[in-house]
Amino acid sequence: MKSHITVVGAGPVGLAFALAAARNASAIRGVRVTLIERQTLALARPLGDAPPSGAKHFDTRVYAISPGSKTFLESVGAWQKIPNERITDVRAMQVWGDEVGKEVDGKGDNEAGKNAGEKNNICFEESVAVAHIVEHTVLMNALIERLHASIAAGDNIRVIDNESVAAISEQKTHRTLRLSGGAEISADLIVGADGAHSGIRGLAGITAKTFDYESDAVVANFKTTLPHENIARQWFLGDSVLAFLPLPDQQISIVWSVTKMRAAELLSLDAETFAETVAATSSHALGELTLMSKTSRVALKKLTAHNWVQPHLALIGDAAHAIHPMAGQGANLGFADARALVLALQKRSSFSAVGDMRVLREYERARREDAATMGMVTHGLRELYLSDFKPLKRVRNRGLNVLNKMPWAKSLVMNHAMK
Ligand SMILES: Cc1cc2nc3c(=O)[nH]c(=O)nc-3n(C[C@H](O)[C@H](O)[C@H](O)COP(=O)(O)OP(=O)(O)OC[C@H]3O[C@@H](n4cnc5c(N)ncnc54)[C@H](O)[C@@H]3O)c2cc1C
Repeated sequence: MKSHITVVGAGPVGLAFALAAARNASAIRGVRVTLIERQTLALARPLGDAPPSGAKHFDTRVYAISPGSKTFLESVGAWQKIPNERITDVRAMQVWGDEVGKEVDGKGDNEAGKNAGEKNNICFEESVAVAHIVEHTVLMNALIERLHASIAAGDNIRVIDNESVAAISEQKTHRTLRLSGGAEISADLIVGADGAHSGIRGLAGITAKTFDYESDAVVANFKTTLPHENIARQWFLGDSVLAFLPLPDQQISIVWSVTKMRAAELLSLDAETFAETVAATSSHALGELTLMSKTSRVALKKLTAHNWVQPHLALIGDAAHAIHPMAGQGANLGFADARALVLALQKRSSFSAVGDMRVLREYERARREDAATMGMVTHGLRELYLSDFKPLKRVRNRGLNVLNKMPWAKSLVMNHAMK
């Protein structure tokens, strides 16, 4: 008899899990997948498809996809659907401590800024790509296209969109979901992939530990006068963290984590002043900047669900854990969850059902430590870099220099970034 898995939330993680479960249906010993999404699940026209003469515009929501996530997305047939010209490989990472900030504030001088930058610069020069930058819309289109192909091929997968879950009840052998439209669905396993504000988590009575950073990520895209050379750049400034991710067409996507008050100030600037403020903060590392998108902000929170699993229920992706975007790892952690849950379902004994706690705990054990480590590293780094305490300031700048001189430590950081 086929097991019925209901995935709630068709964001990148829920979609990838649903595709992986359907694709590995025989290894899971027969499965029917229902995907429930509260929004319309349809292909969107990606930005950047501008007329040849026009300037290209890209999504401001982008992901730095790790090689491990790329392999997973390939295995579900989605990566192959992303047009090559919409993937930007990251070939090196450069990180600066806040001594650069001092130079910018003090002199605002290009050369001075660059020289100070080199002093604290960690360079992860790699022959292979460290990550691949892909826009949210482009990734979602690839996953949705793959989903349509999977449905057309007769895989056991169906979609219910424009619906959310109003209630869940628990029976001995399964759970029942009542949808907002009134319909009821019975599931051997509910997979909550409905993001950081997960309704499934709430309906299941699972509490979460949250930490409000009381800051926002300001996101925007710019055209640059100097080439980005496929380098991801990050500046740890005294009171903020600024990241540049490379895009096609000599553009970059920025994520600037700042206090809420500073975010409001930045959003109130006109395009030219905002571009000059970002360029000056980066010591004009990529020359002059021209704003190519709307500027928006996202509130930053850290979250960990106290339990990721219950009988017949598992949380994956941001529903289980959300971290500071500084390391660009949130979606990567979610894809790793999806992969681990499919693996746990495949490996279960012939006596176990997909919703058995023994099976689900195997998934939680496999993933919890990795997600906690990444959460702690990004949280700790942020605390270290935002501290005004002088000895800590010395540690953080020295830390970058020390890291530079220790190839083994650098490769440790790299290995984690590339998982
Ligand atoms: C500024 C910023 C930059 C980031 N940069 C990166 C990066 O470079 N790399 C990276 O890996 N990560 C990055 N992240 C993190 C990344 O965006 C998230 O980790 C990722 O989107 C999580 O995916 P998800 O599918 O778990 O959840 P979501 O993307 O939140 O998707 C949840 C889905 O569930 C649906 N839903 C919600 N509630 C219901 C309901 N009740 N019923 C049905 N459906 C529902 C929603 O409509 C949505 O489609 C960044 C985050 C921020 C804020």
